[in-house]
Amino acid sequence: MRILVCNDDGITARGLRALVEVAQEFGEVVVVAPDRPQSGMGHAISIGVPLRLYPSREFGDIPAWACSGTPADCVKLATGVLGERPDLLLSGINHGANFSISVFYSGTLSAAIEGAFEGIPSIGFSLLNYSMEADFTAAQAIVREILLLQAGQPFPAHVPLNVNIPNLPLPEIQGIRITRQAKGRFVEQFEERIDPYGQPYYWMVGRFESQDTDTDTDLWALEKGYVSVCPLLIDLTAHSYLHHWEMIRR
Ligand code: MN
Repeated sequence: MRILVCNDDGITARGLRALVEVAQEFGEVVVVAPDRPQSGMGHAISIGVPLRLYPSREFGDIPAWACSGTPADCVKLATGVLGERPDLLLSGINHGANFSISVFYSGTLSAAIEGAFEGIPSIGFSLLNYSMEADFTAAQAIVREILLLQAGQPFPAHVPLNVNIPNLPLPEIQGIRITRQAKGRFVEQFEERIDPYGQPYYWMVGRFESQDTDTDTDLWALEKGYVSVCPLLIDLTAHSYLHHWEMIRR
C-alpha cells in the first residue's frame, strides 16, 4: 500500500512525525507537507504565485517534500507533479481540535478533502492539544487502530474521515464513536495593539460555543473522552431544501 502523508502544521511538526511513524507500519510512505505552518488555511490554493517543492531529509530514507503552498496545494502537487497515486492519504496529526464547523477552517481536513476529490481514501487526524510539545503516544495507538480497520475493510474513497482524539492517556480513552458535526459557532475576540508605526493591529482569539446538546455529535464524544470519527460529505448542496427554491425555476 502506498500512503501519502500531509499536514497543515508544517513539515517539522511533531504531529506529522507521529503520523509518519505509524503510517510506515502499513505501507510505503511519501510525505508532502507545507514548508511552514498553514493552520486555518481551509481549502485555500495558491493562484498567481510560484509553487515550490523542496526535497526534505526530515524523515531519513522516507521520500519527503516541503511545499511552499497550502495543504490543498501539497496534495495537488503530490498527484500532479510527483505523479503519486496513493492508496491512502493521511493528514495530521493536527496540533489541536477540528470538530464541528472547524472543518471549514481546517488545513488538516482540506488535505484529506482534496484527496477525496481525487478518489483517494483519506483520513484527517487531530489531537485535542494545541501545544507543539504535545504527547502523541496515545494518538499513535488510535491511528494504528483505525488504520488496521481500514486495512481490513477499505473506507469509501469519496467520504473523507475526520478523526479527533481526546488529549488523554490511552487507558483513559473511552472508545471510538461514529459522530456527526455538532452545531455551534466561534465567538471571536479581537485584542487590539499598536504597531511601531502607530497603526492598530488585531490578535484574533476564538472560543467555540456549542448550540447542540445531542449525544451523537463529535463534541459530545470528545467531552466524554471518546475518539470521534466523523465521515464528511464533499457535496454541500442542501438537498433536503431544494424544493424551497423551486418557485424561481423557469
Ligand atoms: Mn494545524
